[in-house]
Amino acid sequence: MTKTTTPERPYVLAPTTLDAVKPPAAAPTPATPKYTYVPPPKPDVSHLPLLDPNDCTSTLMRTLGRACTLKRDYGTQTEAKFVAWLANRLPVSLIDGAGNVHVDLRTTNAHRTMFTCHTDTVHNGGGANDVRIDGNFWRADGAALGADDGAGIALLCHMIEAGVPAYYVFFRGEERGGIGSKWLAEEMPALFASIDRAVAFDRADYYDVITHQSGGRCCSDEFAQALCDALGTGEDWFLPCDGGVYTDTAEFTDLVPECTNVSVGYKHQHGDREEQDIEFLQRLAALAVAVDWDALPTKRDPKVYERDDWRSAIGKYSGTQYSLASPSKYAKYDGKSAYKDWRDQRDAYEYEDDDSQWPNNGTTLDADDLDLNDELLNELECELSDALEAAIHDNNFSHLLDLVAKHAMPDDPDWMRHKLSKVRMSHMVARAYDDLFNGVAATDVLDDLMYGSEV
Ligand SMILES: [Zn+2]
Repeated sequence: MTKTTTPERPYVLAPTTLDAVKPPAAAPTPATPKYTYVPPPKPDVSHLPLLDPNDCTSTLMRTLGRACTLKRDYGTQTEAKFVAWLANRLPVSLIDGAGNVHVDLRTTNAHRTMFTCHTDTVHNGGGANDVRIDGNFWRADGAALGADDGAGIALLCHMIEAGVPAYYVFFRGEERGGIGSKWLAEEMPALFASIDRAVAFDRADYYDVITHQSGGRCCSDEFAQALCDALGTGEDWFLPCDGGVYTDTAEFTDLVPECTNVSVGYKHQHGDREEQDIEFLQRLAALAVAVDWDALPTKRDPKVYERDDWRSAIGKYSGTQYSLASPSKYAKYDGKSAYKDWRDQRDAYEYEDDDSQWPNNGTTLDADDLDLNDELLNELECELSDALEAAIHDNNFSHLLDLVAKHAMPDDPDWMRHKLSKVRMSHMVARAYDDLFNGVAATDVLDDLMYGSEV
């Protein structure tokens, strides 16, 4: 046993009388919150009747019922089993290397339309999803409904049953950055030589036929208007909309002339307020089988990349999932620009504030358009705009996540932050920045970001 010696204590000055009587430091005054926010109450749907998909009689409703009563997170057994259930009921022509399910009902060379939807949802894991019937709407109990994109799946099944001659693809992993559609564009590009239009049924709300997504034009105005006219024959109307964010057909814009996304009547997707308008979907299903899809005009040249405007363009160069999806397509910009390569364009945007460097695509922008006018913005708007810019330009989401968490739950922002998904938020930042710039209140933009990225 070793004897240990106690080290000699260092000499410590005894407190002076002055120190001894010094009052303890006052507790810091809590900072006055810059804003207060009361989150809306969670929807209580527990009193509503539960949906049993077996009670649904039509293919449209049975498929939607089956889809919505399952949490189909990509990569889970639940999603895989749902895809197997689907494949067993469809005249499948191919299951490709990414697991996408293809159905080819074309019979002549004149059939040049592709319809798409996606099988996965934003749920965190698989399992059952309780769906409640709220009159004309379906909602899920405490989770996303999954009508994004159960509605699209149901619509495609309905059109296949009706024998609409076209090429159908049920994509996998759309919510994880277009895994299935990216695979198809890269591994089976020859398929697209026989396709003039790719129509996704994966747009929220009513009315929209998307002309721009992922920061660029995806279909011509002529095509969009003709499709709106064709769908607007009943009690609903449709309008071309340039505010698309991202869905699978964005992957095909350099392969297929007319790519779009059509509203299917779900709202508040990606959160537990999601709802599906059942009657709207039924009306749309009836219209979709009546449209002469192959008679729609084909005007856009897929080899010419048309950037929409600077605001969406920054999303494209931002490093978010969807923006870096297919860098090759951005290199195909029409050549008038001094920047031949999309990387150069991105770098130019990041390091130069001078908008004169931007290739002019027909819109005239001056410096004022390029910067949010700080004088007009309140403090929260400035903070949010900075946070969005950091997310968009630098792929740095930490400030934005903090801001959304603080907004959603001022008492416990740390806990709230764990409930937010950066991946989901990355899909929303370009649109959020657009909204903020276009006068949507900062608190509403924060609401959208919260509901869209909550897990
Ligand atoms: Zn979707």
